[in-house]
Amino acid sequence: MQKFQQYIDGVFSDGSAQFSSVDPANGQPWALMPEAKAADVNAAVEAADRALYSPQWTDLTATARGELLFKLANLVEANAAKLAELETRDTGKIIRETRAQIAYVAEFYRYYAGLADKIEGKHLPIDKPDMEVWLRREPIGVVAAVVPWNSQLFLSAVKLGPALAAGCTIVLKASEEGPAPMLEFARLVHEAGFPAGVVNILTGFGAECGAVLTSHPKVDHVAFTGGPETARHIVRNSAENLASTSLELGGKSPFIVFDDVDIDSVVNAQVSAIFAATGQSCVAGSRLIISRRIKDEFLSKLVEKAKAVIIGDPQDMATEIGPLCTVKQRNHALTIIDASIKQGAKLLTGGVAIEGDGFYFPPTILDCSDVPNASCVKTEFFGPVLSVVSFDTEAEALQLANDTAYGLASGVFTQNLTRAHRMIRGIRAGIVWVNTYRVVSPIAPFGGQGMSGHGREGGLEAALDYTKVKSVWLRTSDDPIPDPFVMR
Ligand code: NAD
Repeated sequence: MQKFQQYIDGVFSDGSAQFSSVDPANGQPWALMPEAKAADVNAAVEAADRALYSPQWTDLTATARGELLFKLANLVEANAAKLAELETRDTGKIIRETRAQIAYVAEFYRYYAGLADKIEGKHLPIDKPDMEVWLRREPIGVVAAVVPWNSQLFLSAVKLGPALAAGCTIVLKASEEGPAPMLEFARLVHEAGFPAGVVNILTGFGAECGAVLTSHPKVDHVAFTGGPETARHIVRNSAENLASTSLELGGKSPFIVFDDVDIDSVVNAQVSAIFAATGQSCVAGSRLIISRRIKDEFLSKLVEKAKAVIIGDPQDMATEIGPLCTVKQRNHALTIIDASIKQGAKLLTGGVAIEGDGFYFPPTILDCSDVPNASCVKTEFFGPVLSVVSFDTEAEALQLANDTAYGLASGVFTQNLTRAHRMIRGIRAGIVWVNTYRVVSPIAPFGGQGMSGHGREGGLEAALDYTKVKSVWLRTSDDPIPDPFVMR
């Protein structure tokens, strides 16, 4: 079995305990991972706290911090093949996507490298003639970053990039499911030359490692990506340290199709929205909301495409759908599908786990036009399962789109410009894609509302979220201080 190490205060170590990681393609343990217990977490947070005030970090100019991020970006690019292979091995995410995504991860680091010396303070036109007042933007402090298993390198880059650009120090907890790529990435952080303690990377289980980290008194901000249930724990934990939080949670994103579209093209977009990444994507377009006028033609083409998807070894470049990451997810999908069929949903394709050792699950489509409140329309699967509801009017489409506790992403497909604008205004979500889906960029903020969380990742906004404002007052008069008992 391969063995991985954690990274604390610039040093690699085994961790207080170890656990084995399972290859989802065959259900077999393949690697030994370090398990961080409370002592490891405490050591990492103490190291991050020391580094935050150490001259090795604070004496670096913002431009020099940016240069370190540029080096990291280049190292990620140079090691992309190895990182991709590890991520695919440990999570089952197909190699076609991990390779493409890691190239993009480098772009995120590059974007924040360039941004590091453009995070500016501000001079205020203060209403007192003898004062100069300005705002300094300072790092928010020690950041605890907690990520889930899907796309860990990417979900870490959107936290580490802006936090390091802003001058913070970090303890990152990789998911206990599929941590291999993050522990390998730690070697690149080391090689890039960040001072010891600025970035610490460990893994362990939520109840111990995660809870100790997110409630630690020396943590100033918790950046979390994961499910809403865990987010509630995180927010409760943050009551201990009064840390600020940013929460990137799940979704049940609407994919709305009007009757004026090119059906073949939009069927392709829907395939990408729900079946890419084996549906294990927070922005998955998992609720198809379709005009009744084109529903039958659209669904027959979609079912045909779903049946033709290539399911197989995630390391094979031809594979389009790999295994789910955990057996728990497969069982979750089966339970919700079963309940939904009993409630009246019609199974159009899939719905039954694929026999064998791996955690494979086929593309599944459920027609819920007669039961728009079925469990599958309301529950996040985090798998390749699409629920379909239909509408007659634009108002009905909008009402169905907003009939969810989540609010992460959405897609609107129409050629009607004025209607597109009305939908953009009406949809309650952090992202609206019009005539496209599943597009990201380091330049555009990303995040949700409601049960999808709060805070934004990507763009300048994310870097500002890792800063706090210090107001500075400087008196320019040499006159004696006036009446001390009156506030000026
Ligand atoms: P999860 O919430 O179970 O776990 C996420 C992380 O939290 C893991 O590292 C886990 O160890 C840790 N954790 C668990 N309990 C904890 C506790 N008590 N205290 C502190 N940390 C704890 O999520 P998951 O099943 O790994 O991932 C799937 C979820 O992530 C889905 O809901 C998905 O939508 C969401 N997600 C959201 C985004 C986004 O950007 N909005 C992106 C990817 C995934």
